[in-house]
Amino acid sequence: MTQKITVIRGDGIGPEIMDATLFVLDQLNTGLEYEDADAGLVALEKHGDLMPAVTLESIARNKVALKSPLTTPVGGGFTSINVSLRRHFDLYANVRPAHTFPNTKSRFDNVDLITVRENTEGAYLAEGQEVSADGETAFSGTRITRKGSERIVRYAFELARSVGRKKVTAVHKANIIKSTSGLFLAVAREVAAQYPDIEFQEMIVDNCCMQLVMRPEQFDVIVTTNLFGDIISDLCAGLVGGLGLAPGANIGKDAAIFEAVHGTAPDIAGQGKANPCALLLAAAQMLDHVGQPENAERLRKAIVATMEAKDSLTGDLGGTGNTMGFAKAIASRL
Ligand code: ATP
Ligand code: MG
Repeated sequence: MTQKITVIRGDGIGPEIMDATLFVLDQLNTGLEYEDADAGLVALEKHGDLMPAVTLESIARNKVALKSPLTTPVGGGFTSINVSLRRHFDLYANVRPAHTFPNTKSRFDNVDLITVRENTEGAYLAEGQEVSADGETAFSGTRITRKGSERIVRYAFELARSVGRKKVTAVHKANIIKSTSGLFLAVAREVAAQYPDIEFQEMIVDNCCMQLVMRPEQFDVIVTTNLFGDIISDLCAGLVGGLGLAPGANIGKDAAIFEAVHGTAPDIAGQGKANPCALLLAAAQMLDHVGQPENAERLRKAIVATMEAKDSLTGDLGGTGNTMGFAKAIASRL
């Protein structure tokens, strides 16, 4: 049976980078079929809803979505679309690869790691936040569960196995936050014992940050709780030269959504200036996810080769090319 994926073209530069990405995917002969679904401003105008039920149904049916950035209107009481998607499908794993590309202005030339961030619990619970009536004291709760820790650590090990990674580092602060970070670490150790083929390392979060900016090449897969993961994944994007090259996946038991980390970039929308690489790299993660690791690798190699050759690069990478021209240069190297 052919695998269908839900395609959300999104707002701002979204449609341009999606056209470019689907053009490259078509040259790979993935056999994937696309089902278009609206979300964001486009959907608000057409259906009166930022995230229409038909779009949620499409994702639920296909279980895989490739998504461009969306605009959540400011004010008017809208919840961020990304947050509501994460909640709706219980997308517990946020997976962000960081890889050095040639001819970028990054400080390192040897980064190749994946951050796996727990996306549903920890310090991000909206509940339990309090400021005392006199404004002098604030309180915020953190909840970590065995189930939540188990599934994220297991996801990290399974990912490592499926894409041929050798080491998983669990990042924590169990020496100080003994309850919550302590539980996460204890569960990480238990799960790690079930994966003797993969090296397991534990690292305290402050040391991890120092190690990341001194010797990032020592990391392979990092798994951590929500808040530490938020900070570390952005740190890692910075290590490799920023937003235009940063993909991310949000993965749950029943659905997975692949996207670029950047936003809708209204300042350059509709001008063919947007770099399609972040969404292309998200598509590579998607290919890994749907069991096409060879195609994922071909795609990544073609992107690297195109950057190496400085062929048709967009302005953010110092070139003078346009979005579709860059995509065609990548497609020609598949
Ligand atoms: P949003 O409100 O949707 O987050 P934003 O204006 O914050 O939109 P970002 O996408 O976060 O836009 O981008 C910040 C800056 O990086 C902008 O100047 C934008 O033009 C640039 N940028 C973001 N993505 C890309 C891309 N794919 N190619 C080129 N430049 C980009
Ligand atoms: Mg932004």
